[in-house]
Amino acid sequence: MDQRHYLGVDIGTTSTKAVLFKKDGTVVGMHHVEYSLYSPSPTVAEQNPDEILAAVVETIKVAVQKGGIKSADLALVSFSSAMHSVIAVDECGKPLTGCITWADSRATEWAEKIKNEMNGLAIYMRTGTPIHPMSPLAKIAWLRTEHPDVFTRASKFVGIKEYIFHKFFGQYVVDHSIASAMGMFNLKNLTWDEEALRVAGISREQLSEPVSTTFYLKGIEEDYANEMGISTEIPFVVGASDGVLSNLGVNAIDPGVVAITIGTSGAIRTVTDKPVTDHKGRIFCYALTEKHWVIGGPVNNGGMTFRWVRDELASAEVETAKRLGIDPYEVLTKIASRVSPGSDGLIFLPYLAGERAPLWNANARGSFFGLGLHHKREHMIRAVLEGVILNLYTVLLALQEMIGVPKKIQATGGFARSELWRQMMADIFNQKVVVPESFESSCLGAVVLGMYALGEIEDFSIMSELVGSTHEHEPLEENSEIYQDLVNIYIRVSRSLENEYGEIADFQKKWVK
Ligand code: ADP
Repeated sequence: MDQRHYLGVDIGTTSTKAVLFKKDGTVVGMHHVEYSLYSPSPTVAEQNPDEILAAVVETIKVAVQKGGIKSADLALVSFSSAMHSVIAVDECGKPLTGCITWADSRATEWAEKIKNEMNGLAIYMRTGTPIHPMSPLAKIAWLRTEHPDVFTRASKFVGIKEYIFHKFFGQYVVDHSIASAMGMFNLKNLTWDEEALRVAGISREQLSEPVSTTFYLKGIEEDYANEMGISTEIPFVVGASDGVLSNLGVNAIDPGVVAITIGTSGAIRTVTDKPVTDHKGRIFCYALTEKHWVIGGPVNNGGMTFRWVRDELASAEVETAKRLGIDPYEVLTKIASRVSPGSDGLIFLPYLAGERAPLWNANARGSFFGLGLHHKREHMIRAVLEGVILNLYTVLLALQEMIGVPKKIQATGGFARSELWRQMMADIFNQKVVVPESFESSCLGAVVLGMYALGEIEDFSIMSELVGSTHEHEPLEENSEIYQDLVNIYIRVSRSLENEYGEIADFQKKWVK
């Protein structure tokens, strides 16, 4: 019997998870460790790199222990991690800053400057990372001007996975996937981009050495191996970012298959065989392997808008749900299902948290449009659910300009618990929607990439055996027709407010305490 086991580690923003799989995808052990996000003011979102390092060591140790396997049966450890993090380190590898996460927005002004005055669109077209405060390019430029003392002492600027690999192996390497989310990596020739380095104000030696996502190292420092209870001979595959690995982990890897996640926020992604960028700058392009590139868009306003409805507009329903012992979201979706598709002409622009794709406008704000005396609260609830999907559909329209009409949608995240919301997606997208049996998709993706790295599999076709499906929805023609009409109005209204978004955001900054 095949005793080989595979460990996937996902270094996320709130926790690190390690999942131990058998080759057939069965999970035999898992563990996760949470850590803090330090946010002393609203624009700061940092973590302590050494807390994350400790969490990685702990999760590996406990997941292996829980699996009850012999050290010799561990075939590999392979990594997924959050994108866009930056840590300035000195010559000895000591952090001079916290781990500045994707959620940190202190580089907002720098992002605007790069976009408007420093050839930002051309840099994006070569590097695939939208010009945004999340991008390490903007963060390093910001550090240079705002914290020159730290900047001049910094020997390197590294992401969290590089920091951890350096501790384990004494080398700074960055996989092409994480590199491609730094805003400074030329996707065509797989090297650091000269112009982007000039904008950041650093030399290529101040970044890690780019390596393929299949690159692996053996010979981890003995102390760490002992602490984790593994052999120093285990290959550690550098792996990729959580975003691209989750596409692999839900088996959305074939051309024409689009993966959509709606949890608190949301994302839409698909795989192409070469890097593709967008002349309007709306879409990211990140590497999975040299032959697989993931393009798509992240949206801020996913399930959080429905949570807002639950918390701010529906106290009576929440009370009823509590009394009946059911989930308030179920009561709310039931109420929404009594309203016809299109909410009798009510549109919700869901930009409560500003928006990334497709607007890339942090000042965007939400609105109801089309309200009439005939509208009741249930219309507003349904319009919110529809607004989230309509917004994602406009991101798909941008993607379609590059890849054509998709043939299948793989949908995951908290929204997929609702039948109404899933069917709404099929109707608005006018596409078949399938909900894969997804479980720890980034860890599973990391493990399968690891098997590919070690030559155990020749391609990713094994995914179709590892990932089943739970629900399937076909679009209903009569509903799709209504939504096609509505989406045209949605797009015009959301775009026509561009200047007003800035004005209302300024007003809020000035007057809302
Ligand atoms: P996260 O992105 O934080 O991991 P989840 O994937 O669990 O979150 O998604 C949470 C969101 O899913 C909630 O904000 C809510 O909008 C939505 N959700 C959760 N349960 C339901 C449900 N039963 N019906 C409809 N939506 C739901």
